[in-house]
Amino acid sequence: MNIEKLLVQFESLFSNSAEGISSAPGRVNLIGEFTDYNDGYVLPCALQFRTYVAYRRRNDNLVMAYSTNYPGECEAFELDSPITHGTSHWGNYVRAIAYVYQHSKHQFGGLDILISSNVPQGAGLSSSAALEVSLGGALNQAFDLQLNSEQIALLGQQAENDFMNCQCGIMDQLVSAKASHNNALLIDCMSLSIQHYPIPANLALVVINSNFPRKLVESEYNQRRIDCMNAAAKMGVKTLRQASLDDLYSARDNMSMNEFKRARHVISENQRVLQAAKALQHDELSKLSELMRESHRSLREDFEVTVPATDGLVEICHHTLGKDCATRMTGGGFGGAVICICHHENVPKIVDAISSQYLEKFGLEETIYVANAAEGLVSTLFENHKTLAE
Ligand code: ADP
Ligand code: MG
Repeated sequence: MNIEKLLVQFESLFSNSAEGISSAPGRVNLIGEFTDYNDGYVLPCALQFRTYVAYRRRNDNLVMAYSTNYPGECEAFELDSPITHGTSHWGNYVRAIAYVYQHSKHQFGGLDILISSNVPQGAGLSSSAALEVSLGGALNQAFDLQLNSEQIALLGQQAENDFMNCQCGIMDQLVSAKASHNNALLIDCMSLSIQHYPIPANLALVVINSNFPRKLVESEYNQRRIDCMNAAAKMGVKTLRQASLDDLYSARDNMSMNEFKRARHVISENQRVLQAAKALQHDELSKLSELMRESHRSLREDFEVTVPATDGLVEICHHTLGKDCATRMTGGGFGGAVICICHHENVPKIVDAISSQYLEKFGLEETIYVANAAEGLVSTLFENHKTLAE
């Protein structure tokens, strides 16, 4: 990202210079899918792709936002009147953040905002969380709200839950806010405690975007969450984190088939995450391979969130490298991306295999990134911050 260019663009849009900038990354989840909203474990790392928010405080209560990813569109709304949904989808994320910060009684005024991002959108790499966290970081810094990165993550999740009608868990926002360079984060989504697991230097994290068009996924996604909550209630526990596979099989007769299968995925996935963190620590690729293969199977058969395109990408990787790669779908499913962990020297084999087979089999062209685990939220205040707009 060319920050200087972004700041020049800011100045030409608003006829004034930015006072600060905040940025937050997208993420790739190595393992632990749909476990976060069941108080379970996840193992994501941040990507090198980031969303930047340059801002300047205004002397009124207007929020005026542009995104270089949506050229020519302006999102503007007043903070004095109740914040409701606008007509622009991306603009609603800006409204969502303002809405939850207002409802949490944080004091802030108008802002000029310019957003710019190189996080792929709609690919299951969480451009939405990167946007929520970078916007939150900007508000926090601009108005000295004294929030820590965990609070910024929680407010981002709330924006997605309460305003965007997506009942996501905390993983995306928490890793975007708190990630650290070269590490995967083992997050306990019940306590929000984080343990850092360095990614072994010989391993490459290959992210393959299926470019499968995702449609109407919010309702499916939200229904999965309801199935999980129902299954937990039928076992007499608050969340699936408190249930074992034995508990599940004992309560099976009270449950619908979907509730049972969704819960079986979540409970078994939690165990796989803990084992995978250990395998990563000991650089055991073949163990990781086994765990991720099982995770994908469970997502396909029990959670039912894969599509033939992502199943196909996983199979191509396995046919090419066998136990020398650990591969599964990653993110919210119904398309999106696949993660393939392999030794650096094997990356060209994976790239070749996919480019020679995927288009032919699925009529879609993949996009491949090799991820570098990056830093979470970073906010920088410029020198003109105190003297202007106060
Ligand atoms: P994902 O989080 O997997 O990328 P989502 O559908 O949850 O997919 O979020 C993508 C949406 O987030 C986009 O359609 C857009 O509305 C918003 N968004 C993400 N990045 C930006 C950006 N740089 N500028 C404006 N809106 C963005
Ligand atoms: Mg998202």
